[in-house]
This record gives sequence, C-alpha cells and structure tokens, in this order.
Amino acid sequence: MKAIVLKDFGGPEQLQLETVPTPQPDAHEVLVRIEAAGVCHHDLMHRAGKLPGAHTGVVLGHEVSGEVVEVGAQVHHLKVGSRVVVYQRRFCGQCRDCLRGRQDLCRALGLPSVDTEGAYAQYLRVPAASAVQLPDSIGYADAALACCPIATSVRALVSQAQLKPGETVLINGASGGLGAHQLQLARSLGARVIAVTGSADKVDFLRTLGAHDVVVAGSEGYSAAVWQLTGRQGVDVAMENVGHTLHDTLRSMAMGGRVVVLGNVQPGTVPVSPGLLIGRRLSLLGSGSATLEDLRTALAMIAAGQVRPLIDRVLPFTEVAQAHALLENRQVNGRIVLSGW
Ligand SMILES: [Zn+2]
Ligand SMILES: [Zn+2]
Repeated sequence: MKAIVLKDFGGPEQLQLETVPTPQPDAHEVLVRIEAAGVCHHDLMHRAGKLPGAHTGVVLGHEVSGEVVEVGAQVHHLKVGSRVVVYQRRFCGQCRDCLRGRQDLCRALGLPSVDTEGAYAQYLRVPAASAVQLPDSIGYADAALACCPIATSVRALVSQAQLKPGETVLINGASGGLGAHQLQLARSLGARVIAVTGSADKVDFLRTLGAHDVVVAGSEGYSAAVWQLTGRQGVDVAMENVGHTLHDTLRSMAMGGRVVVLGNVQPGTVPVSPGLLIGRRLSLLGSGSATLEDLRTALAMIAAGQVRPLIDRVLPFTEVAQAHALLENRQVNGRIVLSGW
C-alpha cells in the first residue's frame, strides 16, 4: 500500500511517499481503508522531534475515518463495508480505567503513529474495539475531526467542566482546532461564550462561529477585559487551550469557577497563586484525549448539527508536506484533511 513515512525528524520534506506492506488484521482487529485523515498539531510536533519517545520511520496521523475492508475472526460488531471512525489512541481495554469507560486514563495509551502505524496511509489495522460505527449522515472528512479535536473538546467542556446552560465560558486560543469547536459546543449547550484570540483578524471568524464577545489579548493579557464584560463577576468555566496563559485565566474566574487545562503550546511552568484558588474556591482540572463515550457524544452532536466540523481544505495525501507547512505558518482555520491519492 501507499504510505507517507517520516524519514527523519525535521521539516515537512521528511514526509515521503513509500510503498509498504499492507497490514494484516489479527482475530480481534479490523483493517480500515482510510478515506480521510486530519492533520493535527501533534503530528507537527512528532515530525519536528519535539515529542518524547517518538520514533522515525513511522506513519503519522491519528484522526482517521474509513471503511472496514477486513474483519478478524473474533470481531462481531463490525462487518466488511462498515463506515467507521477510529478512536484517536490505542488503549489496553483490560485495565481498571478502560473497564470503567475512562480510556483517556489508560496507562498503556499510545498514539497509533507512536506504535509505528498511522493514518497517512491507504490502510490502517486497528483493534475492533477502537472502531466506532458512523451515522450515515456524517461524511468521512467531517468524521475525521470527530475523534481528536471535537471529542477532546467534549471531554473538557462537557465531561470535565460540566458546562451548564446560562453559564459563562472563556475559551482562549479560540480560533484553533480545539477552541473553534469548543465555541460551537458551548453555544449549543446554552452558555455565554467569551472567545480570546491573539490576532485581531480572527474576530469576524469567531463571531461567525457564535462567540458573544471576542477579546483580542494584547501584552496586558485579557483578564481585565473579561472582568469588564462580566460586570466584575468573572467566568464560570474556562478552557485553557494555550497553557502559559493560565495565570491570566485564573484571574478571569468567578467564585467557584472550573478551569480545564488542555493545551500546552509553549511547555514550561507558570505561577499559580494558592490564595487565588482558595479565595475564589476554584477547581483546576487537567484534561487530554477523550473516552469512547465522548467520541460517541461528538458524533451525535455533529449529526444533530450542534457542532460543525471546521475543515479549512481537503488535500490529497501526497500533498501532506504542504499541509504541514500551512499549519506551521498558522494559515489554517480549522483542520486540513487529507483524502485521496
Ligand atoms: Zn489530533
Ligand atoms: Zn487500559
């Protein structure tokens, strides 16, 4: 089969088209013909050699949808021809956390591409338990976004923060793959959305997505503006998609607020005031990835029109280097999806 192999850590030119053996599914696996694959920031970090433990000589990509073309002897819930989306990580399915539905906590969790087989290829072999059947109404390109940016946002906003109608939510990095989908989810859940962005030319895009207010964060940060917009009350919930801005987010919170940290754009440490956490009775939560149930929720919300997968453009797999370059240069609104050869 055709596959895009990461030859070495470095620039987009390290992603090269090769012919590799088509994987054979074992008794508990299925073989998926990949119809669409999302290009994630995580792929860029892997390619550049910024992920601890990552390998070269592998096929990147973990945002996959496609059609089942082979099923193992022990697979009963899928058949040849099933349209599926693939869960974004590999989980063991046997540990205490997996068995209580918290696949996001599994200690064996690995990205498909870390295990050497990823989505920038014609076929992918996956455990049948991680392939989820697609509703007929969801196309493959949209489905590719369900597993990573949208399900991860469902995990943070719905499962962790438990956002309720009438609450106010702050979303920073709002035009990114996580933020732009969180914004739509929050709107559909009946919340008031304050979107924070670093660039003034994203304001119209964020308003179109449904932001009630947009704050363009300058060097002085955004908490003063948020304080103003909320009548000095602060926000009930915050999605910290950036990481190093955590201090400013904490200062934007209302009494009893819940902060979910799920982005870490410039890894490092940030100051946190224990007095602020105590004084405002804040909950500080970390979130990453999603559960199978979050993925099903994401699919249901897409099917119901409550969140629209944001696809910047669709490119053939052979133009993956260009996709990486565009994303690296921040010339992308939403996801680039690879489809076709
Ligand atoms: Zn991803
Ligand atoms: Zn497990």
